[in-house]
Amino acid sequence: MSTAKHNLLGMPRDELEAFVAQLGFKPFHARQIMKWIYRRGVADFDAMTDLSLKLRAALAQTAEIVEPEVSTSQASRDGTRKWLLRMGEGQRVETVYIPETSRGTLCISSQVGCALDCSFCATGAQGFNRNLSAAEIVGQVWLAKKALGEYETGERIVTNVVLMGMGEPLANYRSVLPALRIMLDELGFELSRRRVTLSTSGLVPQVRRLGEECNVALAVSLHAPNDPLRDQLMPINRKHPIAELLEACWHYAGEQTGRHVTFEYVMLDGVNDQPKHARELISLLRNRPAKVNLIPFNPFPGTEYSRSPKAVIENFRDMLLGAGIRATIRRTRGDDIDAACGQLAGRVNDRTTARLGSKTFQVTVQA
Ligand code: SAH
Ligand code: SF4
Repeated sequence: MSTAKHNLLGMPRDELEAFVAQLGFKPFHARQIMKWIYRRGVADFDAMTDLSLKLRAALAQTAEIVEPEVSTSQASRDGTRKWLLRMGEGQRVETVYIPETSRGTLCISSQVGCALDCSFCATGAQGFNRNLSAAEIVGQVWLAKKALGEYETGERIVTNVVLMGMGEPLANYRSVLPALRIMLDELGFELSRRRVTLSTSGLVPQVRRLGEECNVALAVSLHAPNDPLRDQLMPINRKHPIAELLEACWHYAGEQTGRHVTFEYVMLDGVNDQPKHARELISLLRNRPAKVNLIPFNPFPGTEYSRSPKAVIENFRDMLLGAGIRATIRRTRGDDIDAACGQLAGRVNDRTTARLGSKTFQVTVQA
């Protein structure tokens, strides 16, 4: 039965080589297998025609290539696509594709829910359920490429990948690292480091580790320019306050000249969007390798916050620009299908209780 088989999707190159060797074949065949999977979108061992019949038979007996199951897929008026993926009983995550003129960005999830409980986030409000495996993370890219016709046309459709969907990727370091490696591998999805971005709420030890092990582009959810406010919006700040987080960021960026860290800053009406907040932010980021991405807040049912008015967001951006800090306003995409930042809650007909430490979360999801 399939449960006993090894899923080759998401298996790093060295592990795949060991797996092939264990079957009694030369490890270099792993290279061919990877090309079939990631470069050609092939899951059927029989179709891997440059492998011997013996190896194909051995693979068919012991291995499989299985992607997450698509529960529904939706397309927005603006071309954004969203897939709701089934990750087991009552567990759903979302993957979003955002086409732009010069690139196509895939936003993928790393966990079912999130334990970090940021007060403005729909995923956080849902609670934490479980970590995704490397196969489930890599599988999101694989299935999107297939659904978008990339393998048929040979044209690069997914040019960028961002870990900005559901979950805190650095809280699932063990699966995220191999998944990142496959995204960068020349036998994998062959993306450059600049085109893969990991967004974190600020798990400092893992930021440092990532800098050493897989220096992809880093985005940090800052959202507040001082500790009391950030404590209130993001409980993780009580563990890793702003100064400690920024120090890790400068270290991360400093490893290679010309690199920067992107700071995400959600614009919450009357909460963190005033000129005094902009001034505080300027003093934190001025003359640093930093870029700011202002995200207009996306409301979700039950939230206490509302989106800052456009003029307030623009004024905030202009203050940053005036101080020489690169700043942009994120365009909201796919909000008609709840695919915008922070709206990803994987709504399903289910109620699950997930335990995390001493805290019990009610994971409530709606149809
Ligand atoms: N857990 C990671 C990555 C996923 S969230 C992180 O927090 O960085 C992706 C981005 O969307 C983060 O910057 C997050 O703070 C932001 N976000 C969360 N809820 C939002 C909302 N309701 N409106 C706009 N952005 C939101
Ligand atoms: Fe988790 Fe990120 Fe949402 Fe915070 S903003 S609850 S870290 S997904």
